[in-house]
Amino acid sequence: MGDQPMVIMSEESQRTSGDDAQSMNITAGKAVAEAARTTLGPKGMDKMLVGSAGNVVVTNDGVTILKEMEIDHPAANMIVEVAETQEEEVSDGTTSAVVIGGDLLSQAEDLLEQDVHPTSIEQGYRQASEKAKQLLEEIAIDVDANDTDTLEQIAATAMTGKGAENAKDRLAELVVGAVTSVADDTGVDTDNIKVETLVGGAIEDSELIDGVVVDKERVSDSMPYFAEDASVAVIDDSLEVAETEIDTDVNVTNPDQLEEFLDREQKQLREMVDEIVDTGADVVFVQDGIDDLAQQYLADAGILAARRTKSSDAEQIARATGAQIVGNVSDIETDDLGFAGSVAQQDVGGSQQLVIEDVEDAASVTLLLRGGTEHVVDEVERAISDSLGVVRITLEDGKALPGGGAPEAQLALELRQFADSVGGREQLAVEAFADALETIPRTLAENGGLDPIDSLVELRSQHDAGTATAGLNVTTGDVIDMDEAGVVEPLRVKTQAIGSATEAAVMLLRIDDVIAAGDLKGGQVNAGDDDDAGGPPAGGPGGMGGGMGGMGGGMGGMM
Ligand code: ADP
Ligand code: MG
Repeated sequence: MGDQPMVIMSEESQRTSGDDAQSMNITAGKAVAEAARTTLGPKGMDKMLVGSAGNVVVTNDGVTILKEMEIDHPAANMIVEVAETQEEEVSDGTTSAVVIGGDLLSQAEDLLEQDVHPTSIEQGYRQASEKAKQLLEEIAIDVDANDTDTLEQIAATAMTGKGAENAKDRLAELVVGAVTSVADDTGVDTDNIKVETLVGGAIEDSELIDGVVVDKERVSDSMPYFAEDASVAVIDDSLEVAETEIDTDVNVTNPDQLEEFLDREQKQLREMVDEIVDTGADVVFVQDGIDDLAQQYLADAGILAARRTKSSDAEQIARATGAQIVGNVSDIETDDLGFAGSVAQQDVGGSQQLVIEDVEDAASVTLLLRGGTEHVVDEVERAISDSLGVVRITLEDGKALPGGGAPEAQLALELRQFADSVGGREQLAVEAFADALETIPRTLAENGGLDPIDSLVELRSQHDAGTATAGLNVTTGDVIDMDEAGVVEPLRVKTQAIGSATEAAVMLLRIDDVIAAGDLKGGQVNAGDDDDAGGPPAGGPGGMGGGMGGMGGGMGGMM
């Protein structure tokens, strides 16, 4: 062994250790939360996100914002993952989860400055999180599957602050109608709810249609426009003769040859259609094109056919009717067909569409969402997806909580009492956890243009006095009973948000060494951090992250 130091990392690698690593990660995590927090609650602002290809998304939806930001700082990404998990598991509460996570980090930063060891913070946070879960279960109310009023309140609460806000009562009715009609003993399969959007008309014109609606007309006017007791084929293929076969195989030199060639093409199309006719199909959804001649043959056989069916539609039709999607038309058999009591072309929201009803396998419904412009409809669709999810979860668990910051305020109160029994350094962490939860009502107040201190003081005093359901009316600034106000959320949305925010914060705190194979700084998020709000965005390859940073600051300034 010589005197040479052992080199274990390549020259390009970057290493940040100890306090530096910790503070870098905390800053990145907090920055993400800061970018999302102005959108929280009914009075939250929207963000306009401009992608690298110039595509524009206007949204209030936490997870959509964070995904579109294309954050590539590894620590910041762990907070983004909290939002993604929240979305996958419970559909709603993504902003809350990220805001709580960010504040747990910022509280931890203070504790670290007071020389509380990360392990004590971790233990305190974990105990607080467990306790919080238990307390939430205690204050949750039971929701019966037939309790349409409460379900509609839950559906509406999930839509507040989104573009759907104005029509939320109408949409809540449709959402609850949709979820309850696909619910059965085994649970709720929201895949049986097709969400179809239509630009034009008002949001209030949205409707719930029994069955699967496919935005297609029959491919030829000589086909029937409806079929009863219909056998339905779904084919992921075309009813055309491939171009290449024509170009390469034939060298036409005289009229006879042309005739022969056309005969051959005709024969191939005939065979394809015969394959279908032989199965006894009444209706055919084809994912690719249908040749004019094939259309004619199908019409002659009395078959209703649609071409260029979107693959998501094809899957929905197959699910609903029990059809097997056939990849190659020559393989089709009677067994592959599904069944529907009726398939009809009819006017849906002003355009001709195919409506498939009385299907074989499952109850299937279509939520037809309307709105003035593409952006409006897209945002309504995101709100509806949250809303469908929370109603499903409530039906599954049968448990709900008041919203408007009520549960967080109640938890803060009870966790502070619990902290005394914890003792030691961990006690400080439990108290910090309680403070972090209060960020939710504080942010709701801030975003509503209210004085956050006044709001918190009033909220605390009502909870002290025993009103566990006291929350914020963000319009008037009054503290009111959230159950009476009809602001209700599923229990699982809160437990999941608190649980995953804790996990992410703890994970980041435990890291004392960051070793990166490339340049870390490039992707750093700079989302309106307190010190330099509105300052020049961090440049580098994470351009989107940097751009949004400036925006986060700007939005904050508008409040
Ligand atoms: P998230 O992505 O966390 O769901 P939202 O922007 O949807 O973020 O805001 C959710 C928060 O807004 C919850 O704390 C919820 O209780 C609260 N909230 C929703 N509707 C109301 C209302 N009408 N009044 C007061 N608070 C509300
Ligand atoms: Mg929400």
